[in-house]
Amino acid sequence: MPELPEVETVRRTIEPHVVGRRIASVDVRERRLRRPVAPDFAARLLGRRIHGVARRAKYLLLDVDDRAPRGPLDDGPGGRLRWVVHLGMSGRFCVGEPPDLPHVHVVVELDDGGRLWFRDPRRFGAMFLSESEADLGTIGVEPLGDDFDGDLLWRETRRHRRVAIKNLVMDQRVVAGVGNIYANEALFDAGVRPSRRSGRVTRAEAGRIVGAVRAVLARAIASGGSSLLDYRDAEGNRGAFQESFAVYERAGEPCPRCGAALRRSVIGARGTFWCAACQH
Ligand SMILES: [Zn+2]
Repeated sequence: MPELPEVETVRRTIEPHVVGRRIASVDVRERRLRRPVAPDFAARLLGRRIHGVARRAKYLLLDVDDRAPRGPLDDGPGGRLRWVVHLGMSGRFCVGEPPDLPHVHVVVELDDGGRLWFRDPRRFGAMFLSESEADLGTIGVEPLGDDFDGDLLWRETRRHRRVAIKNLVMDQRVVAGVGNIYANEALFDAGVRPSRRSGRVTRAEAGRIVGAVRAVLARAIASGGSSLLDYRDAEGNRGAFQESFAVYERAGEPCPRCGAALRRSVIGARGTFWCAACQH
């Protein structure tokens, strides 16, 4: 499933192809996504200009004019509407000619002839227009933003004392966009065992975990994300961070720090990878 680094990589790779372009056609072939595509989605999006591509948690947010233009010289008012895309479990949002494959649900043509397509075999993704972040539901702070710091995580550990620290780091209401891969990697970096109850995490460890989450996400983004299964960026390139995993999916292999065999357990129904010697 794409996590924050993969969505951020899609954002970065899509941005140069779409900013400043106007939407020339919208072809919705399948509405039945996790959140169904609204019947008026195509008509509302048509004709608007894309001003930028942002990201919040694992949502891509394409800023568009907040009303369709009234003529060729009308760039629309300053307010913004957002075209929201979520990749779900298996979604791809790409530039270029759509592939001749099933599950291409939406194809958008731009005024320079470029195309954007959304393919999602499992249909856990979403695509909708939004005027308010409230439409995204309750989501926590951005892990790479200034609000995510040791004090915040420490306060959350006091509020959720019995929750395994790994589940707390993955709780999207606390911090948004940290999924299973990067929670495993960050807790290894921080030297904290994933099963540890949050109430037993010290203030210093909370600070180390925050630093590790930020560092792991930044390294993953610099590598173009992790390509497990079918993830690709918006230009069809694989990420490379899967080659840098310290612990994820490496049970039985030697710990990169101490050489002991890495372990696998299950926490919150998710595969969990850790070193019994390095993580306490
Ligand atoms: Zn170790």
